[in-house]
Amino acid sequence: MEKPTGSALMEKLVALCRRRGFIFQSSEIYGGINGFWDYGPLGAELKNNLRDWWWESMVHNPPAGPEGRAIEIVGIDCTIISHPKVWEASGHLGGFADPMQTCRQCKRLFRADHVPDLLEESAWVKSFFAAPDLKRWADKDGKKLAPGLALVRNFAATLPKIGLATDQAGRLRAAAGGDPCPECGGDLTEPRQFNLMFETWVGAVRDDEAKAYLRPETAQGMFFNFKNVVDSTRVKIPFGICQVGRSFRNEVTPRNFIFRSREFEQMELEFFVHPDEANLWYQYWRDTRFRWWQDLGLAGKNLRIRDHDRDELAHYAKDSGGCCDVEYAFPFSGEKGFTELEGIAYRSNYDLTQHQNVSGARLEYFDQDRNERYLPHVIEPAAGLTRGLLAVLCEAYTVDPTRPSPELMRFHPRLAPIKAGVFPLVNKEGMPEIAEQLYADVRRQVGPAQYDAKQSIGKRYARMDEAGTPFCVTIDGETVTDQTVTIRDRDTGNQIRVVLDQVVPYLRERVGRR
Ligand code: ATP
Repeated sequence: MEKPTGSALMEKLVALCRRRGFIFQSSEIYGGINGFWDYGPLGAELKNNLRDWWWESMVHNPPAGPEGRAIEIVGIDCTIISHPKVWEASGHLGGFADPMQTCRQCKRLFRADHVPDLLEESAWVKSFFAAPDLKRWADKDGKKLAPGLALVRNFAATLPKIGLATDQAGRLRAAAGGDPCPECGGDLTEPRQFNLMFETWVGAVRDDEAKAYLRPETAQGMFFNFKNVVDSTRVKIPFGICQVGRSFRNEVTPRNFIFRSREFEQMELEFFVHPDEANLWYQYWRDTRFRWWQDLGLAGKNLRIRDHDRDELAHYAKDSGGCCDVEYAFPFSGEKGFTELEGIAYRSNYDLTQHQNVSGARLEYFDQDRNERYLPHVIEPAAGLTRGLLAVLCEAYTVDPTRPSPELMRFHPRLAPIKAGVFPLVNKEGMPEIAEQLYADVRRQVGPAQYDAKQSIGKRYARMDEAGTPFCVTIDGETVTDQTVTIRDRDTGNQIRVVLDQVVPYLRERVGRR
């Protein structure tokens, strides 16, 4: 049995995540709410570990900069609701709009740039192209799968138009009488703008004056606090400000599990530099961020870095080093093969200029070394925490039919939600006492552990494999006489005997706690 791919892999993964308590649909007992997800006991640990690793490699212990220079980054934590003018300055109020198309038949909304991918996955499109006889298809499967399709609603008038089409896209358009709806086959409207920000009101009165927005990104907090940070700390250019937190986007087509949600978490860094050094730092962050994702286990062919084409670049990045994305081959990445995990952008001094203009506050920085006053330029590595978590889950999911549990999660030990399982082989003969003491020591000195005395040892291994626990320690008859235990490695299944008082150092060395 091989590791499944595509939608089969996603089905297995979603099922395992629910069964083992990684991820649940939000408010599931009420039927769920589209685009919102809750993290269960294992998922919350895994997410925190990913977040903490990022924070550690940004704020506490960043790698050396270009030419071996020490890097300085400070972390902040901003509110989800801020002054509404922030979003005017950032451009989100005017421009944070995706072109949308509505189906004239079923009234569903789609992001125009998602329609081609959705059509590729659509059940009715697959069945339409597989049909040997369109009349029979329209009367039977077409009626069920694509009730909005012109060909289904009015066969005689539509069939001749299909005959004139020269390629597959043309056949679909002819069958729908316009851009086809991926859900029902109806025809879509022209793309129209749609603002993705969630709105709310601050205070008792619900008028335009009181209107506020849930932040659609965490980045702006770093810009409108730039002066506060410079004035209250000893940071000097070049330096970074970063934060991790929740963002909200009223995504029109939330899909692919937690990949595109309406509430999600981001990990963003704004790195402020002198304009002359921007390209140097852009290259540095491009390489550093790619390596970071590799280090946590996305090392192989599923990860790549893609430089944006010139016509993809935001206007402020046109004359610079540019923009790139770290991309992962998610099971649903389709024909393109890869989708965005993190964007690294050279943003010039666009954001600080905007905030200076809209707020009227002076945001220039005085550079003592250069004796120069200027608005710093910015390199922004912007990553998705929850999207990164999905990449980690996809990468870790492994099938091994020779094991009691054919599904196991091969997390990097530092990310694993549970670091070790501790088992007394049998629940008597002095074994539980030793196991309980070891369990307490591991929890205190290594990290989260699980005590399990139920069922066969094979079943206990299986439970830990599914949770992605890298090590299992078993206390057996020999322990009582010679003070040694077995430690089993999740990935190889190999067992070694280790002296009891060496278990904690052995685990500490391997699970990344410093
Ligand atoms: P996309 O093109 O996928 O909508 P974006 O380019 O708008 O993403 P950014 O604004 O650059 O995304 O946000 C930075 C990161 O935040 C993305 O690389 C992604 O990992 C994450 N992200 C953005 N939107 C979502 C979402 N709806 N759900 C989960 N993660 C998201």
